[in-house]
Amino acid sequence: MRFPRSLLSTGCEMALSFWSSAFRRDIHVVRRTITVAVFLLSACTPTTNTAPGACARPDLAFAGDVLLHQIIQSEAAARPTGFGPAFQGISRALSRARVSVVNLEGPTARNIGPNGRDMRDPGTIFDNRIYSGFPRFNYHPSIADVLRNAGVDVVQTANNHALDRGPLGVDRTLQVLAGAALQTTGTRRAIPQQSWHTVRSVGDIRVAFLACTYSTNGLPDLRHQALGCYGNSPSVPNLIRSLVQQGNIDAAVLLPHWGTEYSSRPTQRQRRLAQAAADAGAVAVVGAHPHVLQPIELITAREGRQVPVAYSLGNLISSQWTLERRTGTILYLDLGRDGAGRVVATSPRYVPTRVERFVGRGVAVFPAAELPQGAASLAHAQRILGPGMVNPDGCLSAP
Ligand SMILES: [Zn+2]
Repeated sequence: MRFPRSLLSTGCEMALSFWSSAFRRDIHVVRRTITVAVFLLSACTPTTNTAPGACARPDLAFAGDVLLHQIIQSEAAARPTGFGPAFQGISRALSRARVSVVNLEGPTARNIGPNGRDMRDPGTIFDNRIYSGFPRFNYHPSIADVLRNAGVDVVQTANNHALDRGPLGVDRTLQVLAGAALQTTGTRRAIPQQSWHTVRSVGDIRVAFLACTYSTNGLPDLRHQALGCYGNSPSVPNLIRSLVQQGNIDAAVLLPHWGTEYSSRPTQRQRRLAQAAADAGAVAVVGAHPHVLQPIELITAREGRQVPVAYSLGNLISSQWTLERRTGTILYLDLGRDGAGRVVATSPRYVPTRVERFVGRGVAVFPAAELPQGAASLAHAQRILGPGMVNPDGCLSAP
């Protein structure tokens, strides 16, 4: 059933104003109204600037940094639903894609203390020691099932916090994520050493995802467990070249953790790596780390393919509250073959997201279009990423 546009927008305005005013009332009203308002608002999002065909199921979805600061961890520890409510709002946007990818910015190393050794299980109490916030993160392992239930398939574990719990922390993190049926890329177990990439099938296309990091915050990588973006052992472009030459891989996507924190502009170093990755055969490059958005561009590989490059998708969730840091984006790409039979990534489009701290629910991320305060994040995302590809509601109201 389709509602007349005018009726729908009047209903939407009422829902928005009701929801906004509900926040000024008591907590019980807020809890009841959030459920109703989220349902109503999912039908209220604009569809007028959605390109034809944009509502087809995306092949790939990418989201930015899962950066669980202390407040998000303590809120999760204090409620039986744990981290769940923080991600519920974006689960439909992630689940729509055939494969969804996020960057987990820190270990989720069960019972590993700050010294990198096994400790007694603290249970669900957040002590900021075994599980901790900035500057050395470690997230309760319950985050793994929550990400999986939110629709995530692949987790990039190569980032500057990858070694925050040492070599054992890397191993334990990979074990925890595998236990939740999540695939990982960019870090590997100390023994036996695994490959850096992971492979998923999208239809008949087998895609290798390869993550790397510019740094491990000065912590020594004694057992060579985190793939460096800019090093030579091995070099990322060479790895991509060897992946796409393998008979059982059709395409490679590079996921670099790179760039300058809080800068909305990519550096020359980012641009050079993106071009080298494209020339080596990558079909897309999707970056993270700056905690703010950077542009999405199409670059041309040496042999003429167009390669989408998203320099930074910003934070998916954090407790950083400036507009630039609370605004992120989910990027959708499709995969197809060009006239020469080469795999290409097409139709880049994005769903701007926004993090809020709600009474009762705590810190949570939603598509910006679903939030009364989301207009500022939508405008910011369009300013940085460009208005041509915006898909504010992620077609969440489409069949
Ligand atoms: Zn980072």
